[in-house]
Amino acid sequence: MNALVLDKMNHLELENLEKPTPKNNEVLIKVAYVGVCGTDKALYQGLPGSADAVPPIVLGHEDSGTVVEIGESVTNFEVGDRVAIDPNIYCHKCDFCRTNRPELCTNLSAVGVTRNGGLEEYVAVPEEVAYKLPDNVSFKQAALTEPLSCVVHGVDLLAIKPFQEAIVLGDGFTGQLFVKTLKAYGVSKVTISTRHLDDEKHVDFLKKVVGADEVVDARSNDFDKDYDVVVEAVGSADVQEQAVKAAAHGGQVLMFGVGKPEQKFSVSSYEIFQKQLTVQGSFINPYTFKAAIAMIAAGKIDPSELVSMELKAAKMNDYLSGKIRTNKAVLNIEAAF
Ligand SMILES: [Zn+2]
Ligand SMILES: [Zn+2]
Repeated sequence: MNALVLDKMNHLELENLEKPTPKNNEVLIKVAYVGVCGTDKALYQGLPGSADAVPPIVLGHEDSGTVVEIGESVTNFEVGDRVAIDPNIYCHKCDFCRTNRPELCTNLSAVGVTRNGGLEEYVAVPEEVAYKLPDNVSFKQAALTEPLSCVVHGVDLLAIKPFQEAIVLGDGFTGQLFVKTLKAYGVSKVTISTRHLDDEKHVDFLKKVVGADEVVDARSNDFDKDYDVVVEAVGSADVQEQAVKAAAHGGQVLMFGVGKPEQKFSVSSYEIFQKQLTVQGSFINPYTFKAAIAMIAAGKIDPSELVSMELKAAKMNDYLSGKIRTNKAVLNIEAAF
């Protein structure tokens, strides 16, 4: 089968691998769609995602497809089931797993990070990470369940009330998903910041498709007002500083954007004290796949509206090295090779 293998850092090679045989507890998936994101770019460069990716490895942690084979002890799936795959595999044995915080698992493994992912025609995964799809959820939508489930986890960590006003700092795919999710959770007014306020078409997209109530200039040092909920969805130090400043008294700041491991930002500790701020981190997606799929199926969120490019396998090195820049890319695996 065709597979895109990260054979060394900063290089993918199209290789012919043997089709995997599912182990006892595994299902074999014929991959339909794979989403790619900044985490793949980090792994490509040798930076950590949820864990380190050690070559040779097949990336692809945002996967959907059809079950084509099942291992002997698999009980929940049949050949022909349409599924989305949660990449994160918990050990169920460590203290974090046993205290209902599996995202902090000390033995975390992940499809497309520590074991082969979806940038290949067939991928084998434990049945516990496969989720059946309702008929009205497309494979393209389903491949975006993973990023949406991470956003749902972030919002779940906040105390959301309908009267709140929120701002999302950063208008990339993740920021856009946050606007949609905060609205779906009942936040009354959601603002998004952009560096392209002069691009009328883009601002119109942020309002009409993404659903932002207001669009503001990301470069502003001082917004007109303070916000009850601030989501940092960029991961750079300047925006992290801006996030703390934008929070109202009693505000909650969600630090969602992924910075580099050595990155630091400066913050006034007096401001955290005096405004009684909560500054919250958010890591991966503990059991939020069901919620994400349900929101897509109910038509509350359609992440496929936010996809800006369908990539081919031959273009993946250009995408991962940053030569191709786009808001959100997916691969239709049948058509990708
Ligand atoms: Zn991702
Ligand atoms: Zn664990």
